[in-house]
Amino acid sequence: MGRLILTSKGLSWFRKGHPWIFRNDLERNPDAVPGSIVSLETKNGKFLAQGFYSAQSKIAFRLISRTKEAIDANYWKKSIHKAFQYRQAVVAQTNAYRLVFGESDGIPSLIIDRYADHFVMQTLTRGTENLISVITEILLELFHPQSIILRNDLSVRELEGLPPEKRIIVGECPQKVEVFEGEIRYQAGLWNGQKTGAYLDQRENRLLASRFLHGGILDAFCYHGLFGLHAARNASRVIGIDSSPEAIEQANENALLNALTNMEFRRENVFDFLKAEEEAGHLYDGIILDPPAFAKSKENVADATRGYKELNLRAIRLLKPGGTLVTSSCSYNLSESKFLEILRECEKDLGCTLRIMERRGQSADHPVLLSFPESFYLKCLFLQKI
Ligand code: SAH
Repeated sequence: MGRLILTSKGLSWFRKGHPWIFRNDLERNPDAVPGSIVSLETKNGKFLAQGFYSAQSKIAFRLISRTKEAIDANYWKKSIHKAFQYRQAVVAQTNAYRLVFGESDGIPSLIIDRYADHFVMQTLTRGTENLISVITEILLELFHPQSIILRNDLSVRELEGLPPEKRIIVGECPQKVEVFEGEIRYQAGLWNGQKTGAYLDQRENRLLASRFLHGGILDAFCYHGLFGLHAARNASRVIGIDSSPEAIEQANENALLNALTNMEFRRENVFDFLKAEEEAGHLYDGIILDPPAFAKSKENVADATRGYKELNLRAIRLLKPGGTLVTSSCSYNLSESKFLEILRECEKDLGCTLRIMERRGQSADHPVLLSFPESFYLKCLFLQKI
């Protein structure tokens, strides 16, 4: 087994509990096989932990265990079983959820999403890339899936020197898998959809938001229309906006699937749409803003801040008094306090008062580790304009 030696600075970082060790916190270039499981040690040779070694990325070590226990197929089976038990406890009202969320489940850089009996796997580093066949066997044994797809078409893999890859590992996967979420049904495109087919991280927010949404609703950045579908069950009218034609097509199909006739989806840029609605003098009782991550890196936080501000400002202007804004940011690089500050600025600029009804994050199947801030990325606020 390869060994990584921590510098003194690295040691105090590790002791705080973060599951990653950066390359510049290692004493010297380690003699270890990329993707292998290595032991992390102090300068005096004291064992600290076992984890995956990455040779290319700035993140050199990803924590698996603080003990010397054997990390073998049986270990991974226990980890996945534990992850499943946790989902059984926290996931409700759906058959589509995240079964494994990387570090948060003690399996760094592995994602497994489940859509009914179809599973989608993503391995983000060489460490988990090496485990594909082991994990496949475990999924077969525990869940008897109809299919398992590998969706490794993610750019983060480039940091590890891994190529994009998409393939079916087990069974045959239909183009679309129908799943349910509360009272609605939707089709997830596991092969071609965004993420692994759906934005599972917003599920609980979608389920709850519908309670606050009545009257005329705007679902901005609607993707397959899921926020809007929930809202349409109570609201009088829902309009969904997305720039992707594929998203609009699927959103329309989902409306049909649920026999909802009070919905309309339009392919448009949200910024342009909001401007046009303001010019037309249209107002809404509820607005959902769920944009893609504007702050993809620390470098573009300033630009992203301007983007979030403009978007929220325009949306709040279109809200009737008493109306509800469900606003999200999935940029890890923009903290919750920064997001709140942006909204406070909007309030000030518009001379209105916003009341927080709900202050939320990602769904419970995407659990956050207290000492791993990177695992908390989605912020979602339900605000009332009073
Ligand atoms: N609310 C959705 C997820 C939205 S993901 C859900 O709960 O499932 C973000 C969406 O924004 C993507 O579908 C993307 O196509 C769309 N998008 C990105 N930039 C846009 C823009 N400027 N105008 C309209 N849609 C945009």
